[in-house]
Amino acid sequence: MKNRWDSTIAQTFANDPLAMRVYTSRLLGQEPDLVLHGGGNTSVKATVPNFFGDLEDVLYVKGSGWDLATIEAAGFAPVRLKVLQRLAQREQLSDSEMVTQQRAAMLNPHAPNPSVEAILHAIIPFTYVDHTHADAIVTITNTPTGESRIRELFGDRMLLIPYVMPGFILARKIWEMTATLDWSNYDGMILMNHGIFTFANEAREAYDQMIQLVTQAEAYLTAQGANSPAISTTQDPNWVTLATIRKAVSQIQGKPMLAQLNQSAEAIGFSKLENVSAIATRGPVTPDHVIRTKPIPVILEAEPTDEIQTYAEKYRNYFDRHADESLTCLDLAPRWAVWKQYGTLAFDRSIQSAQITTDIVEHTVRAIQGGEALGGWTALPESDLFEMEYWELEQAKLGKAKSADAEFQGKVALVTGAASGIGKACAEYLRSLGATVVGFDLNAAIVTLMNQPNFVGVQGDVTDAAALNSAVIEAIRRFGGLDILVSNAGIFPESQSIEQLTSEAWERSLAINLTSHQQLLKACIPFLKQGLDPAVVMIATRNVLAPGFGAAAYSVAKAGLTQLARVAALELAPFGIRVNLVHPDCVYDTGIWSEEVLANRASRYSMSVEAYKTRNLLKTEVTSREVAIMVAAMAGKTFAKTTGAQVPIDGGSDRVI
Ligand code: ZN
Repeated sequence: MKNRWDSTIAQTFANDPLAMRVYTSRLLGQEPDLVLHGGGNTSVKATVPNFFGDLEDVLYVKGSGWDLATIEAAGFAPVRLKVLQRLAQREQLSDSEMVTQQRAAMLNPHAPNPSVEAILHAIIPFTYVDHTHADAIVTITNTPTGESRIRELFGDRMLLIPYVMPGFILARKIWEMTATLDWSNYDGMILMNHGIFTFANEAREAYDQMIQLVTQAEAYLTAQGANSPAISTTQDPNWVTLATIRKAVSQIQGKPMLAQLNQSAEAIGFSKLENVSAIATRGPVTPDHVIRTKPIPVILEAEPTDEIQTYAEKYRNYFDRHADESLTCLDLAPRWAVWKQYGTLAFDRSIQSAQITTDIVEHTVRAIQGGEALGGWTALPESDLFEMEYWELEQAKLGKAKSADAEFQGKVALVTGAASGIGKACAEYLRSLGATVVGFDLNAAIVTLMNQPNFVGVQGDVTDAAALNSAVIEAIRRFGGLDILVSNAGIFPESQSIEQLTSEAWERSLAINLTSHQQLLKACIPFLKQGLDPAVVMIATRNVLAPGFGAAAYSVAKAGLTQLARVAALELAPFGIRVNLVHPDCVYDTGIWSEEVLANRASRYSMSVEAYKTRNLLKTEVTSREVAIMVAAMAGKTFAKTTGAQVPIDGGSDRVI
């Protein structure tokens, strides 16, 4: 483990304990083998003036909701040290009461909630206290011989604390255990099945100690042959099966979930282990992971849908075994899976959350194999995991982190022609409503268009069936399924009378405006059949209903597209797939309408450009975004009971009405 301390940088914080605390907290946070996504916590004790200028002893402790990697001074809650130390001496204290009293003892009421381990930090008699859930330490402690191995490794330099639920009872237990001992005899403290604490009066010393102790544990694992997880490669899975898995999980959860497949060499290596079903289902690395991972994953092997159903039944039984009447059962869906031969899967409502689970799982599968090499992975008993999973404070934390329930949260959309115009507007608008979007476009700019985790841009030509197929597969590989297809890509050929029309122009319009849509739809259908309230929206044109001079190649192709959508509505209705169609017109903020084309068109009708742009009954221009709003309505609840519809969005045309 790398020691990231930099004396030149550290020097600038020499006279500011809190700034120094921020600095070394971030050093710890940069190391995923120490802390992952909000795990771990740190503190510093300082004497600071209050509002009246009186000096008070304060514990600045990591606030909940902050991540050590990115924490700032504002992320530390200033709590009166004396109050915390008195709380530790109480016989009993509920965790909600503990949170209330900690908040009441804060110097700044606007600071975040202090960590639930604040009391524990307060009773450690050193200025700087660092706490992580280091992989190497928990790997060793999650084995039958963990305690003796820790002793063998560190001798008597470490205080060893048997597992107790974090929060008040842990702080109280340590207060009792340490009431008569001399802390200065210890380099640190190991909490079995949980993590490690280091402490010192100097920030650097506490940090160095953490790095040194964890490095020692890592070296021990390597020496014991417990640091070489299996790696392997495999062929891609059947992608329709993945879409089926995601659908089954979503149905049990009651809401659309994304499925993130991890095909890394380690994930595949783990999934191929002969005893993977047994070792993957013993429990997590540290109990606070259960909030994201549930106690165990589902193992997918032969019949995924049945296996997911069985998981749900077993989860319900687990809840019934441990719950009293005051608790409400969480949803029964798994949060991750071992997909035998193919890797691991993480399920969540957003790709950002699924990524956090994937990260946790990567560390988990390594730790499990390390534990196996040390004589057998042994997680905490189910009852301890349940206590953590249903801990009121953790439940509250999770509630805050949940993303808002936007209409398309957890859904996956594929939009073609997404780099500009109506396609881009659709991609942006669906994303704003929670959808995860794959955008396809000929323009290479699509790849970097949005730079957001819930958008993937794929460059390709819609007339290339293989390119279309790979865009569809990309949606499944990255997000687990496909629910919404916005078939939009198109061109508007130069105006040519039928007499003058070249075969190239005719063929090109048919290839892009018609045939490519059929090929894309064909590629999507197997996945849409596994979609969640699946919907197809095709972008046609007002020209279908009211054709214009010189636009035969365009209008004929779009008329064909309209007929394709109508047949698709018939054929796909038995699978619950809705197919609707918009006929836009007067949309001039798209790539098709260059100034030159606009001027040409306007002069053809002997109009000014301005008059031409609003030549409809409502005398209005239609924007790409307004088309996107209509498309989203068709993809969503508004059109839940409608298929085969054609809706003009053109400002009103007397030739259409
Ligand atoms: Zn902890």
